[in-house]
Amino acid sequence: MNTPALFDLAGRVAVVTGGNGGIGRGIALALAEAGASVAVLGRNEEKNRRVLSELKAIGRASLAVKVDVTHRAELEPAFQKVESELGGVSILVNNAGNVSLSGGVLNEKPEDWDSVIETQLNAVFLLSKLAAKAMVTRKSGKIINIGSMYSYFGSGLIPSYSAAKGAIVQLTKSMAIELAPHNIQVNAIAPGWIETEMTAPVKTMPLNDEILARTPAGRWGQAEEVAGTAVYLASRASDFVTGTTIRVDGGYAIR
Ligand code: NDP
Repeated sequence: MNTPALFDLAGRVAVVTGGNGGIGRGIALALAEAGASVAVLGRNEEKNRRVLSELKAIGRASLAVKVDVTHRAELEPAFQKVESELGGVSILVNNAGNVSLSGGVLNEKPEDWDSVIETQLNAVFLLSKLAAKAMVTRKSGKIINIGSMYSYFGSGLIPSYSAAKGAIVQLTKSMAIELAPHNIQVNAIAPGWIETEMTAPVKTMPLNDEILARTPAGRWGQAEEVAGTAVYLASRASDFVTGTTIRVDGGYAIR
């Protein structure tokens, strides 16, 4: 057995939504370091430019495409652009995400609910559909979705987020069943509490103490600590792994 070759992504083309910051950036850079050509899809052009130069410094063919994943008409042209400039997409990481800190259903505005569901769930369905169609013709592929601790637990503060992340686990299993005969593996990662722009407000809330007390590791995680699991799920090492959600949480969910 050639173990390093199992994790080698040379010749693969990866798309990472929200790959210009936080967890997505960590995953994009790690996939490139493992040998993949990487395209990031993000809205913020400055952040897109920054991650593109980091990807190029690693020495891989790379691309940053300005896309809002909630603008449905932008998805297919962006996907086609990646395929024509980098080659057939073999890895899709559905990472782009937002949250509405509404405080609960009594306060949450319908438009905020829609924005979270459109970003965190509908875009995952639409992009997976595009990628799976292309992967089926090539008889291989990896789709990696990002869940959350709220894939397992309810939240009185962010109900739309919890609803979307719960659905991600079931969508992952459903796509895994459908696509397994085509040699396409579909899995998810459920990060625990990771220090990013999204979670920055939590650091000054009483919730921060609860997180530290409940996480056996006793600390927040870093984006880079999620990336290794993504490389594994993108690689041949996981060819017999499908439909699962892997927690990367410092043990948060075991209490
Ligand atoms: P960040 O806020 O740091 O990054 C979010 C990324 O998503 C940004 O790159 C942003 O790009 C992109 N994004 C958001 N909305 C859109 C959109 N409509 N179209 C295109 N891109 C979009 O958050 P994290 O890195 O923390 O989160 C990444 C994923 O991980 C999310 O799915 C999140 O729910 C999940 N997660 C995070 C955890 C954590 O503790 N941090 C824990 C569990 C899950 P741009 O700025 O260009 O819009």
